[in-house]
Amino acid sequence: MKIGLFFGSFNPIHNGHLAIAEYMATQTDLDRVWLVVSPQNPLKPKKTLARDHDRLHWVRLAVENNPKLRASDVEFGLPKPSYTIDTLAFLKEKYPEHQFVLIMGGDNIATLHQWKNYEQILAGNEIYVYRRPGHELGELAVHPHVKVFDTHPLDISATYIRECLKAGKSVRYLVPEEVLGELGGYGGH
Ligand code: ATP
Repeated sequence: MKIGLFFGSFNPIHNGHLAIAEYMATQTDLDRVWLVVSPQNPLKPKKTLARDHDRLHWVRLAVENNPKLRASDVEFGLPKPSYTIDTLAFLKEKYPEHQFVLIMGGDNIATLHQWKNYEQILAGNEIYVYRRPGHELGELAVHPHVKVFDTHPLDISATYIRECLKAGKSVRYLVPEEVLGELGGYGGH
């Protein structure tokens, strides 16, 4: 199968993430999209990041009724911080029957040249990019392995969700119904 990998902290997962995952899984040649939950980077402050297993649990709840989407905890078992090039190598070895494609927003492709071994990532993988308003794609977007898709990302961020929760405001319709009840009390402590 051709599988799109959508990496994120998902702190928490919201409908903006899910809309992109669904778009990629249904309107491109991808068969499936895996939402890969990145573990806590030990070099980054822990303050606003919920526990790895909570974030994974929310992603699982969000996608459990969608056969095209799946939550992945593959990076939990890899050395930290996890670099995409290493995660890709691991997945290719573990699932030789699958072809993996990276999914990223226009903001990420613009800074891809700062990633570890980015030339190797580009040379050995396809990258599906969705445009994000206000972000230029940069030079790497013309690489033959990069495909750019025009869609309409929702203007939601996990930061905004955390702020709402902290202030006791409703995030209904911004996060999936299945996750809503689980976030009680979580405002990014
Ligand atoms: P935070 O606000 O905490 O930085 P976030 O909402 O940007 O979080 P991440 O978990 O960092 O969420 O996102 C995972 C990936 O999804 C990133 O590549 C990010 O650019 C992208 N993304 C985030 N929000 C949206 C959105 N509304 N539409 C499309 N892509 C998004």
